[in-house]
Amino acid sequence: MTQRLLFLIADTGGGHRASANAVSAALHAAHPDMFDISIVDPFVEAAPSFAGATTGLYAPIARHVRWLWGGIYYATNSALAVEGVSRSILTLLSPGIRSLIDEMQPSAVVSFHPLLNHVTGRIIQELPSGGRPPFLTVVTDFINLHPFWFSPAADAIVLPTTQALRGCLRHGIRPDRCHVFGLPIGPSFTAPQPDAREKKRLRSDLGCLSSRPLVVICGGADGAGKLRGIAEELLSRDEPVDTVVICGKNEHLREELSRIAVPHDRNLIIQGFVTNMVDWLRAADVVVTKAGPGTVMEALCSGTPFVLCWYLPGQERGTVTWLRQHQVSRYSPNPHRVVDFINEILAFSPSEKHALLERIRTLATPHASSSIAAQRIEGYRITSHSRETV
Ligand code: UDP
Repeated sequence: MTQRLLFLIADTGGGHRASANAVSAALHAAHPDMFDISIVDPFVEAAPSFAGATTGLYAPIARHVRWLWGGIYYATNSALAVEGVSRSILTLLSPGIRSLIDEMQPSAVVSFHPLLNHVTGRIIQELPSGGRPPFLTVVTDFINLHPFWFSPAADAIVLPTTQALRGCLRHGIRPDRCHVFGLPIGPSFTAPQPDAREKKRLRSDLGCLSSRPLVVICGGADGAGKLRGIAEELLSRDEPVDTVVICGKNEHLREELSRIAVPHDRNLIIQGFVTNMVDWLRAADVVVTKAGPGTVMEALCSGTPFVLCWYLPGQERGTVTWLRQHQVSRYSPNPHRVVDFINEILAFSPSEKHALLERIRTLATPHASSSIAAQRIEGYRITSHSRETV
């Protein structure tokens, strides 16, 4: 019999939805016809309309007033504050989530977004025993985990790194509930890392026909960061490269870029929200990105060197340090420095490049989604041992 699963997300950026889609695809691949999976954003689909407007503020805040994001993050970065917010503003979500669960009668509820964990956990705990679906959370931040992630009601918490695991244990989560599988990303990123021939084929399919190196610049689903400045800096340098800017949902950036004068011996390719990120990341010689976990993991799995140009204070800060410590990526908010880093990478000797790709490989978890989907399931509780021992 088909089992229903309820996946809860919020579209603050694109990473939460991308991970939910990835786990859903892996479950369908591993257990064909077994699951009927609904991916729901309760802020938009099951709450008063102004609640949806709240998460709609994420993109402008992330792009233009990062300090405000940092302020909100750190002001709520305690168990007490989380309890306060969860028992006040976030209870607006409760009736909608409760109705979803009542209507769907899911075999399990899986949350991919920290703001949903406490409120959903409480609803599930209040259901009559016997009618309570198991509750799982899939953490989509690498290192710094806000206490919103840790619902005491979660039967299992899937984590991307051992650093995230340590954070969980510090917050008193039972070790047997923690499972380190990596960050789930789409199945297309499990393909072997492309060699030079494959890169050439991809470029030709994407319409990039020159023999110049290809630099792909992106800033998450909302196109955050000084992407225009980096593109302009690249175009102004002597080292000739082709530049692709993936603006995501940032229409303003797309319009600004369309007005840039491009020298005759260069290419500037401007894209909006793309659905073939895998092709762009695999085709590129270097990627420039904000420290969004989704894109970072996708670049790691593509085996493409990348430079970080932006991060959200709070949850993405630790990612910058983590990648620097592993000598996998460098960070600067300054377009001039970013382009220096790009040119350093492009000038690597074969042995330097090989060493960098080896370091990249050690952090990549291309099979996280299928590892999650392959767990022995008893009432959909994860029962086997996790990849890393606690
Ligand atoms: N993405 C996409 N098309 C775009 C821009 C982004 O599919 O045009 C995807 C990207 O591949 C990744 C996600 O959106 O899976 C962005 O997640 P990330 O964690 O990097 O940043 P966020 O948008 O959540 O801040």
